[in-house]
Amino acid sequence: METFAEHYQSMMDTIQRCMPGADLEIIDRAVEFAREKHKNQVRRDGSPYIIHPLAVAEIVAEMGLDTDAILGALLHDCIEDTDTSHDDIARLFGTTTAELVEGVTKLTRANFSSTEQEQMENLRKMFMAMSKDIRVVLIKIADRLHNMRTMQYQSPAKQILKCRETMDIYAPLAHRLGMQKIKWELEDISLKYLEPQAYEEIMSYLNSRREQDEAFMRSIQEKISGRLNAVGIKNTTYGRIKHVYSIYRKMQAQGKSLDELYDLYAFRVIVDSMPDCYNVLGHIHDLFSLVPGRFKDYISTPKPNMYQSLHTTVIGSQGIPFEVQIRTWEMHETAEYGIAAHWKYKQHSGAGSEKDFEWVRRLLESQQDTDAEDYVHSLKIDMFDDEVFVFTPKGRIVSLPAGSTPIDFAYAIHSGVGNAMVGAKVNNRIANIDTPLQNGDIVEVLTSKSAKGPSRDWLLLCKSNQARTKIKQWFKKEKREENILHGKASFESEMKRLQLPLSALNDADLSAQLLKKLSFDSWDDMYAAIGYGGLTATKAVGRIRDDVTKALKAQAADKSPQSPLKLNPDSAAVKQNRHAVNGVIVEDIDSCMIKFSKCCTPVPGDAIVGFITKGFGVSIHRADCPNAAQRDDPRQSARWVRVRWANAEEQPFETTLELDCITRDGLLLDFATAMTTARVRVKELNGKDLPGGRSVFTVRFEVKNVSELNAIRNRLLSIPDVVGARRGSN
Ligand code: MN
Repeated sequence: METFAEHYQSMMDTIQRCMPGADLEIIDRAVEFAREKHKNQVRRDGSPYIIHPLAVAEIVAEMGLDTDAILGALLHDCIEDTDTSHDDIARLFGTTTAELVEGVTKLTRANFSSTEQEQMENLRKMFMAMSKDIRVVLIKIADRLHNMRTMQYQSPAKQILKCRETMDIYAPLAHRLGMQKIKWELEDISLKYLEPQAYEEIMSYLNSRREQDEAFMRSIQEKISGRLNAVGIKNTTYGRIKHVYSIYRKMQAQGKSLDELYDLYAFRVIVDSMPDCYNVLGHIHDLFSLVPGRFKDYISTPKPNMYQSLHTTVIGSQGIPFEVQIRTWEMHETAEYGIAAHWKYKQHSGAGSEKDFEWVRRLLESQQDTDAEDYVHSLKIDMFDDEVFVFTPKGRIVSLPAGSTPIDFAYAIHSGVGNAMVGAKVNNRIANIDTPLQNGDIVEVLTSKSAKGPSRDWLLLCKSNQARTKIKQWFKKEKREENILHGKASFESEMKRLQLPLSALNDADLSAQLLKKLSFDSWDDMYAAIGYGGLTATKAVGRIRDDVTKALKAQAADKSPQSPLKLNPDSAAVKQNRHAVNGVIVEDIDSCMIKFSKCCTPVPGDAIVGFITKGFGVSIHRADCPNAAQRDDPRQSARWVRVRWANAEEQPFETTLELDCITRDGLLLDFATAMTTARVRVKELNGKDLPGGRSVFTVRFEVKNVSELNAIRNRLLSIPDVVGARRGSN
């Protein structure tokens, strides 16, 4: 059985060795506090519970973190397992420590095991998102490492569960954070419980050849350090057998048995300076013959997790290949402790932890999976701010847009659940259905068979498009009568606002013409659409406004008593066609040449005006074109005429967009791809670089109308580094 005294001493030694500036007095107080709080608890092996926090604190000390982190590690189970509160810790040990313990507690309460492989990515993201301070992650990793080291006392079921979780969450995180040493240990212990046979096989193989391996490694080590000492390069050189899990992975990946694997050995040469690294490399290549294609320079190009070293594989005297890693002491520390090592340097240079976290985030964000051999899954945390991760009561994880409410959650589970929702519980407490959810919340939807379905204000309370769409669908289907009433009311008030008489709809012919324009079979259908939110009243009225106005005008102009407002759709169409040239009707001019101005390239839907040119008919400008501003000039005003679009939108119109971009490679290709996927006919696409790292691209293409144009514009604006898109002029 392990004793308090042994662990206490060992922790203190490590703190003094790795953290010279630590505040030993407050650390001692925290040890006493935790010891007192946990005094009635024992570990599964019968030793006093306090041994666990002491061991975790020792691991944290070894990482080289600070006093707050040590305190956090010592107290990490106090909130969860004893009657200690956040405020108790804050009062006695400061708010930072209290926050750290609170953070670790949250992670402890969250359930990070999942049977679904697709969920791993989300789990790891949530783990990071929940830990507002990187030290929380590091303490939690240390906690898991000690639990793994004492895994033999757990039940077999728990062993499997914890080891899976370790492989899914903790080892990848340790890898991403560059903590190679911890990652290896976590992987090896996990393998021992998850694949006991394979583990035993590899271990006994390695044991059986231990003597010969050690002799081999000693001879190589002596040869290398002998040479380096002779030329005056101060070095620490040693050999090791690669870790068990990496051997296992190699066997799996290459389909080889143990004795077919050759590169089991790795040597390390640690020197004082970077130039020495390259000097050592020269000597290694002089001593042994190198295996071509295996040299990697991670010093000039560090791995995304900041790892730096020179790697080369060479062949020893007995024809046995081995890898040599060459690095400085600083690179070595980074390789072993990763983020923690950096954290330490940062801290010494006085940067706050908030900023460090930013740095971690950037590190994780910039990580591409360059190291596919090392790890299968990439951990890309790019949605920190706009995603929230919550659990179902059964532990399934659901990712929602940040700010989501139980309404969003319910609809994310199933539309049936959302429609039957009568309330919600968050973390086992009744909560308002519009409570914003937090990372790690356990959300339960209370449903009832007699539920009346969603209410209209849910559309305002939910955050996700998914929920909104499903709620709208429900209203569309279930509440037609109500929708018609709602829709009719808003339609009529919009008509009133624009001073359009509702009586216009009473005219059968005009009514048919308007419905056709709106693409509905009946007014009730259209009201229903407005009612459930498929169409806004403003849009609907906007679409028919001109027709109604024109009909009213015709009615006023046409004094013939037999047909007020009678606008036979057929004759209207004939009339329009007579006037329409190139899709444009020029008022008061029967047939004339039409051309579209090059300066503003109008398309159907744009407000337009016409200018009677000398000898070239009427040229059409957008009403907001700078050239059209001249129509206010009294000497010119007679030549400006009112024009409008005919209904037919069949023919394509050419238009131009100008895109303001931050210069980068591949922009032209991105535009071309975007246009092709949108099935747009491009007539011209070119760009030029401007001073100051800016470029401007011009794209000329065909569209049917302004809404299509806007859709394309939005699509182009969504391309990275595109900062603006203007309708072309000139
Ligand atoms: Mn613990």
